[in-house]
Amino acid sequence: MTEQVPGKVDMDKLVSLCKRRGFIFPSSEIYGGLGACYDYGPLGVELKNNVKKAWWKAAVQERDDMVGLDASILMHPQVWVASGHVEGFADPLVECKQCHQRWRADHIKDGKCPACGGELTEPRMFNLMFKTFMGPVEDAASVVYLRPETAQGIFVNFQNVLNSTRRKLPFGIAQTGKSFRNEITTGNFIFRMREFEQMEIEYFVKPGTDEQWFKHWVEQRFNWYSNLGVKKENLRLRQHAKDELAHYARDCYDIEYLFPIGWSELEGIANRTDFDLKQHSKYSGKDLSYFDEETKEHIMPYVIEPSAGVDRSVLAFLADSYDEEKDKEGLRVILRLHYALAPIKVAVLPLSRNEKLLPLSKEVYESLRSCWMVQYDDAQSIGRRYRRQDEIGTPFCVTVDFQSLEDRQVTIRERDKMRQIRVPIEVLKATLEAKLGGEPLDVLPPGGEKWLGFE
Ligand code: ATP
Repeated sequence: MTEQVPGKVDMDKLVSLCKRRGFIFPSSEIYGGLGACYDYGPLGVELKNNVKKAWWKAAVQERDDMVGLDASILMHPQVWVASGHVEGFADPLVECKQCHQRWRADHIKDGKCPACGGELTEPRMFNLMFKTFMGPVEDAASVVYLRPETAQGIFVNFQNVLNSTRRKLPFGIAQTGKSFRNEITTGNFIFRMREFEQMEIEYFVKPGTDEQWFKHWVEQRFNWYSNLGVKKENLRLRQHAKDELAHYARDCYDIEYLFPIGWSELEGIANRTDFDLKQHSKYSGKDLSYFDEETKEHIMPYVIEPSAGVDRSVLAFLADSYDEEKDKEGLRVILRLHYALAPIKVAVLPLSRNEKLLPLSKEVYESLRSCWMVQYDDAQSIGRRYRRQDEIGTPFCVTVDFQSLEDRQVTIRERDKMRQIRVPIEVLKATLEAKLGGEPLDVLPPGGEKWLGFE
C-alpha cells in the first residue's frame, strides 16, 4: 500500500530496529495491538523527551516573548463547538462494498479499494473526534471529547496568561501534549496515529504585523529541523493553495519532509487571523480582546500557529539519521542523531569482563551518570558493543582497559567516523561536556593526544 522512496531507509527496517532495540512497540501487542497506537520503549522515551526538550528550548527558553502552558486534555464541550470541530472536523469516508475496509476518500487514487480493488461507497463525512462521558451518567449531556489538537487549550487560557504575566503583544504561548484523532486511513508506523503528541505555538500579534510574524515563524521552524541535523535536501516548504486554506486562514505553509513514504507534512504554520479568539469570545460571552495601551483601543489579536507533531518529528529524525556502512565485519548500522537528541549520550565499556577492570570502570560510569543518560555494557566483544551503541545513536563510547589501571587514562571513541582519543580520567567529564555541547572534535582536551583515525 505504501510507496517506498528509492535511496531512503525502508520503513520496515526502521520499524524492526525500533522494536528490536526498544524505541517503539505496537500498543497492547500481546493482545494483537490496537490500530495506530504505539508505545515508546526505554530508548524511545528518551528520544521523544529530547525532541520535546529541544523544541521547548527553541520555543520558550531561548525567547523572551514566549511562555509555556499545560492545559487539560478534557475540555468543556462548547470549546469544540466554538472552534468548529463539532461541525467541521471531518474527513470524507468511503467503504469498500466487498471487504468493508474504510478509507479516506481523498487518499484514494483510482476510485477502487486499495486492499482488494473492490467498489467503494459514496463518501460520507466522518468526525474524527473521540467521544467519552464525564460523570456517572452516559447521556448526551455528559459527552466530552478527547482533544484533537492542543491549540484550543491555549486560546481559552489567553486572558489567564495575559492577566497573570502582564504580557504585551506580540507574545506567544507554547504547549506540548497528547491529541487524539479517530483517523480513517492509518498505517505508515508513527506517521499517522490515533493518539499522538503535538508541539504547538499560538503567537498573538497586532493585526497588520501578522504577515511579518508569519514569515518569521516559517523561517524559525524550518531552521529548527535543519539545526537538529535534518538534511536540507530532505526538507521543503509548501504553501497551501487558496482552495486548500481553511476559510479563516490567511496563509499556510507546510514544512514537508521526504519520509520513506514520500514528501509529507511534518509541521503546519498558519496565519489564523483573529478567528479563534473571536469565536471563543462569542461562545463564552467573555471578552477576549486585548487593550492596546498606546492607542487606548481594544483589539482582537491575530494569531500565527506553528503546529508540529512530536511523533512525526521522531520519525523524521530516525529516518534522516539512519545510515549503513559496509565493513570487514559486515554491516555497521548507525543512527547519526544530533547529540542533543541521542537517547544515550555515553556508553562506558570495560575492555573485557576481567575483574581487575571492574572497579575503575564502575568509578567512571558512576562519575558520568548524574550528567547524562549513560549505559554500562560489558557483554560480548568490544567490537560488538561499539556496534550496538552505533545502532542506537550513542555519540561517545568510553573504554577502560588494562593500561587505564596504570595511567588513569581512558579511550573516547566517537560514533560517526569511529575516531579515538585517549584522555586522563580527570578531564573526561569536561571533555564529553564540551563535545556534546558542540565543540569540534579536533579541539584537543587537556592531556589528550591526537585523535586516531582523524584525517
Ligand atoms: P494530515 O493532513 O497529515 O492529516 P493535518 O494537516 O490534519 O495533518 P494538523 O492538524 O495541522 O495536521 O496537525 C499539526 C501536526 O500534528 C501535523 O503537522 C503532524 O505533525 C501532527 N499530526 C496530525 N495528525 C497526526 C496523526 N494522526 N498522527 C501523528 N501526528 C499527527
